[in-house]
Amino acid sequence: MSAEATNPEARPEARPELRRRGRTRIDLRRLGRAALLGPAPRDRLPDAIGHVAEAHRAHHPDADLSVLHRAYLLAESSHRGQMRKSGEPYITHPLAVTLILAELGAETTTLTASLLHDTVEDTEVTLDQVRAEFGEEVGFIVDGVTKVEKIDYGAAAEPETFRKMLVATGNDVRVMSIKLADRLHNMRTLGVMRPEKQARIAKVTRDVLIPLAERLGVQALKTELEDLVFAILHPEEYERTRALIAAQAGSDPLPGIADSVRSVLRDAGIAAEVQVRPRHFVSVHRVSLKRGELRGSDFGRILVLVGENADCYAVLGELHTCFTPVVSEFKDFIAAPKFNLYQSLHTAVATPDGYVAEVIVRTRQMHRVAEAGVIALGNPYATGDHADGDEERADPTRPGWLARLLDWQRSAPDPDTFWSGLRAELAQDREITVFRADGGTLGLPAGATCIDAAYAQYGEAAHGCIGARVNGRLTSLGSRLSDGDTVQLLLSHDSSSGPGADWLDHARTTAARIAITGWLRQHPDGATPTTTPARAPLSVVGARGGGGNAVADLPDATVRLAGCCTPVPPDAVAGFVVRGGAVTVHRVGCEAVARMRALGRTTVAVHWRATADCRVTLVAESFGRPHLLADLTEAIARQGVEVVSATVEPPVEQRVRHTYTLLLPDAAGLPALMRAMRNVPGVYDVGRA
Ligand code: MN
Repeated sequence: MSAEATNPEARPEARPELRRRGRTRIDLRRLGRAALLGPAPRDRLPDAIGHVAEAHRAHHPDADLSVLHRAYLLAESSHRGQMRKSGEPYITHPLAVTLILAELGAETTTLTASLLHDTVEDTEVTLDQVRAEFGEEVGFIVDGVTKVEKIDYGAAAEPETFRKMLVATGNDVRVMSIKLADRLHNMRTLGVMRPEKQARIAKVTRDVLIPLAERLGVQALKTELEDLVFAILHPEEYERTRALIAAQAGSDPLPGIADSVRSVLRDAGIAAEVQVRPRHFVSVHRVSLKRGELRGSDFGRILVLVGENADCYAVLGELHTCFTPVVSEFKDFIAAPKFNLYQSLHTAVATPDGYVAEVIVRTRQMHRVAEAGVIALGNPYATGDHADGDEERADPTRPGWLARLLDWQRSAPDPDTFWSGLRAELAQDREITVFRADGGTLGLPAGATCIDAAYAQYGEAAHGCIGARVNGRLTSLGSRLSDGDTVQLLLSHDSSSGPGADWLDHARTTAARIAITGWLRQHPDGATPTTTPARAPLSVVGARGGGGNAVADLPDATVRLAGCCTPVPPDAVAGFVVRGGAVTVHRVGCEAVARMRALGRTTVAVHWRATADCRVTLVAESFGRPHLLADLTEAIARQGVEVVSATVEPPVEQRVRHTYTLLLPDAAGLPALMRAMRNVPGVYDVGRA
């Protein structure tokens, strides 16, 4: 583990072993071989690893335990003779770390690497040997953990430390998972260290590892680490909190409330498990700072576990019917998951005797992910192995925030920029996914704009971005993106193009901010006038930009086509009345429809307006170039369409707009006509006027 491994004083008992290099090498080689070939019965794991095997089997009944057996034997024989500061044999440490991970449901590869995580750093075992015996993947993870441990943690909140650590993980969160479990075991056994050293390690844990645990969604590790740090760094508050918890132990109203919830759900015929979850110490402390004097129901929460997603909303319905809900406390993290994959419904209900109890409702699968985060998602390289239905969201080895961070950290000009960027990224608590018009997706923080998407997709080439289409509609670069939007970015090939200073007002991601700031510094005179301002009104109509073709069975209601499923004729559609009286139209198969129906929202019938008119007016938006008009009219003529009139407006910011009124032999030919016009070089948008 880092602190011990890099600091000779940390594990004094272990170091003399390592100093006697010659003898140690021979002994360990011999022991290692003996252990691997030796008489240990193959059909039974040694007792020491029995707990790990049991915990692993509980989550993965079909797991192959023989590889764990081999890893254990190598780790045990190579660490033999080394002691922890506590006086225990060193092997107890990798075993404890592995048990923590096994209990959280980590897969076999992670557990194998975890058993071996200190061998390359602290024993004669080499990385090549690990690779040869356990494969590239285990070798890669062990190498990552070894690199992380070589980084000096001496200077607690140093941005450089954190940067190096993230880079050392090689993008693989399994390395971080092992690092977190390693730190948890070391924090649990920190009592044997001198107080100054305890405080130093606790501070790094607070500044670096707890935020990481939070981001990776490993709630179980995060809460325990928080309490351990709290006890070391704030002993008086810790003691006061402990006393508070002890004092209310006899008069806890939550078990009674849980009973009433149980009977309400039983009467409603909903199969659910209802638990009382005590808050951890830091949580009690935080609540007491927020609410002043604590009441009995503040010391824990009610947790309701169900089988299916839809059951969550059914439970919510019953709770809100049979108790008095505190509406301001309701949060739907199922429909809008947090950045770290966490999903649950949160609410609070008031009981007849005046208590307010917080209630969390989730499925058992959501619970597993809430507790163990990325660790619960299984082997990230095995396709289809992870959480049901989460395929499109979860690449646990490379969560969006980590990928972004690893990308921009290289271009951060100084540690201060890195640190402020990092804090900003960590403060984002939700992530959105937008679709690239050319295929693929971009993960961005909530609130990101087209400018952020441009830099995420094109890097420095985004300096030449002059416009964007969102869901087919031309929009300003400063427009905020929503989850599920499709974004197409329009780049100028004119090398003199560059960002305007106002782009910084719209850039939310650190990557975009660093790139824009760098460009502006190199171009103190600013961009050429053709490329600014980013917020210039760009008004173009697209056939899909609005609800024009859909008619709702509600007189005078404004109709809006939902961005999530972009319905077009002749899709079967359903509408919902949203705030302000407008009707949002979704395809009937859209997830949002199921979700809103589950919430009891009624649908409004919607039909498509018949389009029989053969005379249409189309607007083509293009980059100005010679022969554009000729090429466009030729494309129109080739479709057998007659031009009734044409207007060409003078170019604005390199863009020109042509408006054509056309006579089509058959309205059905319109999509093909528009496609043909869009295919003309330079044309980036064609829409109905
Ligand atoms: Mn360790």
